Amino acid sequence: MGFEFTEKAVFQQYFGAAHDMVRRSIKEFVNGEIMPHVDEWEEQGGFPRRLYKKAAEVGFLGIGYPEELGGTPGDIFFQIVAWEEIMRCGSGGITAGLGSLNIALPPILARGTDEQKERFVKPVLAGDRVAALAITEASGGSDVAALQATAVRDGDFYVVNGSKTFITSGCRADQITCAVRTGGPGAHGISLLVIESTTPGYSVSEKLKKTGWWASDTAEIFFDNCRVPAENLIGEENQGFYGIMENFQVERLQLAIMGYGHPGGSEPGIYLPGGRRD
Ligand SMILES: Cc1cc2nc3c(=O)[nH]c(=O)nc-3n(C[C@H](O)[C@H](O)[C@H](O)COP(=O)(O)OP(=O)(O)OC[C@H]3O[C@@H](n4cnc5c(N)ncnc54)[C@H](O)[C@@H]3O)c2cc1C
Repeated sequence: MGFEFTEKAVFQQYFGAAHDMVRRSIKEFVNGEIMPHVDEWEEQGGFPRRLYKKAAEVGFLGIGYPEELGGTPGDIFFQIVAWEEIMRCGSGGITAGLGSLNIALPPILARGTDEQKERFVKPVLAGDRVAALAITEASGGSDVAALQATAVRDGDFYVVNGSKTFITSGCRADQITCAVRTGGPGAHGISLLVIESTTPGYSVSEKLKKTGWWASDTAEIFFDNCRVPAENLIGEENQGFYGIMENFQVERLQLAIMGYGHPGGSEPGIYLPGGRRD
């Protein structure tokens, strides 16, 4: 059995005319709405919130999400072409900031109830709310199973205490998908809660300074006896670690695209079906 592994064969297999169409519309969005401002936004350390709305209108935020939640379903290659085109702007910060929903929403989509999807996914895909994922803590990010922020059940609420750091879109997020300790030590004591930024006891630091990704706001978030409705628990209690692990696959893909799609790296986003180049 022979399969000729050429660039053309690979592109014909995974990218078709519909992917090409998405690529062109995102490219237009990048050229019209991002490129004229990219240097200014990088220098000022953020992009305007209205960009989420514009990204939603062009269909970018909803790529790969269910139609009933305002998305445009499709295979993963639609997301790949979209991210390649966004990365054409050359700003990892804009790409990361616009993309924080893609790490915040998948656990809700995979493990949440219909009501949670309606409340926490739909308005984000519409560009009306900003979502972030909050796992990392000052005590260390690599060892997720050792995280320390606690959520103690009290009637219909969880009382959350602790802090998170390096949270992308953390300053402006309206909601965070947050990993908290609801059980004993280790991976089996972790749950995911959606915490809204309006919750009393929730506070956010100034934007953290970074060597790159300037246009992405990155924050520390603090919880001081935050009473979070128990109905905001995503999936089962103490099963959150698995939701986090599943989620990392999409995050890795996005970060890989940001790496190779950077204009300073290999040629960005120029591939079209059949190996044609734009
Ligand atoms: C710009 C930016 C945006 C981010 N956005 C988010 C976000 O949106 N949400 C979020 O939750 N987190 C976010 N993070 C955090 C990121 O996930 C963590 O930085 C990462 O998980 C590493 O954790 P750490 O920085 O605490 O480093 P540590 O875990 O303390 O690791 C420090 C060093 O030790 C090494 N190391 C750690 N453990 C071991 C080991 N067992 N054996 C050998 N070497 C080891 C690491 O490789 C690293 O070099 C962001 C970080 C940055 C910089």
